[in-house]
Amino acid sequence: MATRQILQPTNRETLLEVSDAELGRGVRIREKGIDFVVRTVPHRKQRYETSGDWIPGDPAEIRVSKLKNRLYVYLIAVHEMTEYAGCAGKKDIDQRSITFDLLFELERKAKLHGPFDEPGDDRRAPYYADHQAATEDEKHEAAKLGVDWDSYEKAVNRLRRN
Ligand SMILES: [Zn+2]
Repeated sequence: MATRQILQPTNRETLLEVSDAELGRGVRIREKGIDFVVRTVPHRKQRYETSGDWIPGDPAEIRVSKLKNRLYVYLIAVHEMTEYAGCAGKKDIDQRSITFDLLFELERKAKLHGPFDEPGDDRRAPYYADHQAATEDEKHEAAKLGVDWDSYEKAVNRLRRN
């Protein structure tokens, strides 16, 4: 039997309200004209070192690392959906983005980047502009929700594998 999903496309307000357990099974949301399924996964199950990931498809899949604070999960989901909306339709964008992110992690090991530098802030990233727009959207939502940006960043940084 297929994994149970909430099949009704929902909106951001609904996404914000659903429990982490429901997010784990997957929540459908239509955002910026794209159908998404958003779910939480254990951080170690991410495809590479990241707290949020998008995987092209219909629906496009958003994977957010499990975090105790559901507002943080929501903010990561918002970032990933906005970023993906900018990337959708670009040729081989998934493969090119992953290749770049893996390269960036190798460079980090070689001490070419700081421990918390983000690949999306590197101008070579194929999704650079989309990441910047996504961070703006994320910061806007954080302000609306009264989330302290520094505490949020610290919680996300603590997920990092060594
Ligand atoms: Zn990003």
